[in-house]
Amino acid sequence: MYTTTRRIVGGTFMVCSDCGDAISMNKVCEYPIQSATDMLKHMAVHNASRAFMPVVAHVTQPEPEAALQ
Ligand SMILES: [Zn+2]
Repeated sequence: MYTTTRRIVGGTFMVCSDCGDAISMNKVCEYPIQSATDMLKHMAVHNASRAFMPVVAHVTQPEPEAALQ
């Protein structure tokens, strides 16, 4: 999710609350459609990684029950 942040240097940015990725509001004003597309793609990446996280955890971490046997 992007939130708007005002910085002392560089002005106002749209900052991703998940990873801190920042897009300058100047760029958003200059290329609004391109910027909106970039943000949607960026958030889709986060959503995709969340969706796959349980699968990845299941594969990489040993089962607690299995460790006890
Ligand atoms: Zn992000």
